[in-house]
Amino acid sequence: MQRTLGIIKPDAVAGNLVGKILAHIEVAGLSVEALRMVQLTEEQARGFYQVHQHRPFFKSLLAFMTSGPCVVMVLKGDDAIERYRALMGATDPAKAATNTIRALHATDVEKNAVHGSDGPDTAAQEIAFFRAALSRWA
Ligand code: UDP
Ligand code: MG
Repeated sequence: MQRTLGIIKPDAVAGNLVGKILAHIEVAGLSVEALRMVQLTEEQARGFYQVHQHRPFFKSLLAFMTSGPCVVMVLKGDDAIERYRALMGATDPAKAATNTIRALHATDVEKNAVHGSDGPDTAAQEIAFFRAALSRWA
């Protein structure tokens, strides 16, 4: 049993895709353990994506991630981290495998519908980050 941090990003919330994306996750056998809709502050988005602070897309990414509400969730299941990354598909939807969330629902490499932790360390870090940032959310 493993936990991972997922986000349904502002593009997907604005596109009325919350239900479809949650269904995709649940049909694949992962459980939603905690979930909250929240509009990230600039400071929260900056903290969450700190690892990308020197990348050329950072400023634009912050503007996108704070542009509207997103849905933050803790997903749980056997091998949840890798299984959810596989469900999401590649960062760039043009390169994402058929029937992945990003292939189906993303707009471009930035507005790519979902986030998922990329390993055990980042999953633990990202879950802790939101548990601290959001007082009650389960
Ligand atoms: N991103 C972007 N341009 C890029 C690469 C990434 O705008 O060239 C954004 C995109 O929203 C992506 C996020 O930055 O999901 C984090 O990038 P990462 O490489 O960690 O991709 P992910 O883990 O989300 O697949
Ligand atoms: Mg990443």
